[in-house]
Amino acid sequence: MKVLKFEANEISVSTNYMKRLKTIVRKAKVYLFQGSKYECPFCGYKSSKLGTFGFDLPVILEKEIVGSGLRRCRCYKCNAIDRERLIYAYLEYESRFFMEKSEITTLHVSPEKHLSTYLSKQNLKEYIKGDLFVGRYSYPEDVVNMDITEIPYPDNYFDLIICNHVLEHITNDHQAMTELYRVLKPSGIAILQVPISLQLQHTYEDELVIDPKDREREFGQYDHVRIYAQDYADRLVAAGFQINEFSLSSKYPKLGLNPKEKLFIGNK
Ligand SMILES: [Zn+2]
Repeated sequence: MKVLKFEANEISVSTNYMKRLKTIVRKAKVYLFQGSKYECPFCGYKSSKLGTFGFDLPVILEKEIVGSGLRRCRCYKCNAIDRERLIYAYLEYESRFFMEKSEITTLHVSPEKHLSTYLSKQNLKEYIKGDLFVGRYSYPEDVVNMDITEIPYPDNYFDLIICNHVLEHITNDHQAMTELYRVLKPSGIAILQVPISLQLQHTYEDELVIDPKDREREFGQYDHVRIYAQDYADRLVAAGFQINEFSLSSKYPKLGLNPKEKLFIGNK
């Protein structure tokens, strides 16, 4: 027992040391990379470069999956990444709709930390954060356990839906898209981002691929169930949406957005 206790202490000391070391390295990078090329909208940090995020797998490179893989997109100070900044740019600068904040009922699926903090401060009429609770994770108290293939809200309820890199995890994505469409108001908008292959014409999925290692090899992440392709908008249209596609990266260079990632804005 003594040996075990000694080992536990050793691990604890080692973990604390590593945590302190990481904090020192992070602060050093924040100091070193100060600059004017990029500006993080969430923490205000201005930098000369962005940090790396993600990792490459052969399938990500081979299929040119935009929105996955290793890339420079991370704020050195707050760790926010390009996906969150893209939604921010659209809401804050592009959507006149978002000016009427106190009138807007919002559903944010699988809410990202920085984006949800930003939205929480906007005095929205209603801000629902929904996620499908999975056993091994813990969730903040204000997040509702929600399966988006069966959204527990009435038809035409939400003005704004944000579903940012979620559908690639859902086996029955047509049902999820149909549900998102159902709960969207006729005047509302849905932001529907996914990783997309620039190589594939047709979405690749195989229900028999269920082992995490196999999914990683086939789809580029252990919990993805498909690779979306150039037909992604068609799949949204099949669920009822009208879709507008456009890029914002060149318009807001300081945000360090992914030049290959288009926004998919769904209307009813
Ligand atoms: Zn930041």
